[in-house]
Amino acid sequence: PFGDAAAEQRVRSDDRNHVFHSWSAQAQINPLPVAAGEGSTFWDYEGNAYLDFSSQLVNLNLGHQHPDLVRAIQHQAGRLATIQPSMASDVRGELARLIAGVAPGDLNKVFFTNGGADANEYAVRMARRVTGRRKVLSMYRSYHGGTSTAISLTGDPRRWANEPSDSSVAHFFGPYLYRSAFHSTTPEEETQRALEHLENVIVLEGAPTVAAIIIETVVGTNGVLVPPPGYLAGVRALCDTYGIVYIADEVMVGFGRLGEWFAVDAFGVTPDLITFAKGVNSGYVPLGGVVISDRIASFFDTVSFQGGLTYSGHPLACAAGVATFDVFERDGILARVRDLGERVIEPEIASWLERHPSLGEVRGRGMFWALELVRSRETREPLVPFNAAGADAAPMAEVAAACKAAGVWPFTHFNRIHIAPPLIITEGELRHGLAAIDAALTVADRFAG
Ligand code: PLP
Repeated sequence: PFGDAAAEQRVRSDDRNHVFHSWSAQAQINPLPVAAGEGSTFWDYEGNAYLDFSSQLVNLNLGHQHPDLVRAIQHQAGRLATIQPSMASDVRGELARLIAGVAPGDLNKVFFTNGGADANEYAVRMARRVTGRRKVLSMYRSYHGGTSTAISLTGDPRRWANEPSDSSVAHFFGPYLYRSAFHSTTPEEETQRALEHLENVIVLEGAPTVAAIIIETVVGTNGVLVPPPGYLAGVRALCDTYGIVYIADEVMVGFGRLGEWFAVDAFGVTPDLITFAKGVNSGYVPLGGVVISDRIASFFDTVSFQGGLTYSGHPLACAAGVATFDVFERDGILARVRDLGERVIEPEIASWLERHPSLGEVRGRGMFWALELVRSRETREPLVPFNAAGADAAPMAEVAAACKAAGVWPFTHFNRIHIAPPLIITEGELRHGLAAIDAALTVADRFAG
């Protein structure tokens, strides 16, 4: 379709006239018509190529049009396109077995959902039923999804206009050494003080009222905040002490983003429930779920679980999930994520600190990194204010535009650029994209003193 101006115009007008978009003032957006995608690249109708450094919404772990995933979906569509959840399905069972096989500890059963938000909804519902308690604690600077309870759990501005949808949620501060809520100066201090704070919140909210604590194992959209050593183990210990269910939200970081099947493996902890979506099948067909510990699963052996979805464990989605496991194993995806993260991304972006005064900090792991942009390294004033919009956000918009002009589609949020390319990106593409971001940072440097 490249160069087909009439086709592009039709896509634009259908979209503008009839598609109602997420998280937007409808008259203020201008969605890019996308004509095609292949591997780590997608194209607009004019034929401009964009190297996708955000993996769409950090879900396209195996890239566009992966032949194994496409074939698996086509094959499944040819044999049984759908089946309702109360019947047993070969491909649904196979994917559940594969997920249980790589999940930590005794997390051996899977409840499938349509995506990440409903995975968190159902995890919370299970925790409430098992504990007989109602309250849930979640972090400021977090995103857990757009549905009623999930948006209440969310600790970012997307919650504000949606309050109160689930009033039994209280927020706490997680570790974030660069902008520590606890005035810490070392990772050890940050771990200790963040855990003391969390314990205070538990006690003051009333431990016997708290059903669950939900934490993104590495906070995603709100900053690629990698927990300091000992923090998640401390959360696990607090949950054990107070009889609270520990839910790890791995919707963004599960399935290889950190070079591990589940991100908790990088920190040596076993939650009671893990929620996943996105990378389980790169989003080719909507799929999410909750991986459930034996203790919680066995509670529901005799108590009926009151929850369900018509498309729970949809065969087309599960077929793409099974194919994902095959590709990960055959192509050594986890090892290549760790290798490219350590050998290519980390040294490259760390070297930028010497050249770009706008770069306050770089942090991350595997194929998941953040560049925190500032006006001043000394004061750490963000390049744009928290939740900036319009003219206030202009410096970040200029940086993003410079990346796009160089053929790289960046993930930006507030004052940060995140680096989250498909896990199958070639080393050459990766270096090319990093060079484009390096060049775009000179735009940010103009605002930094
Ligand atoms: N949890 C996390 C950590 C996420 O990043 C997201 C989506 O970005 C969600 C939950 C919600 O997932 P979904 O959009 O599939 O409902």
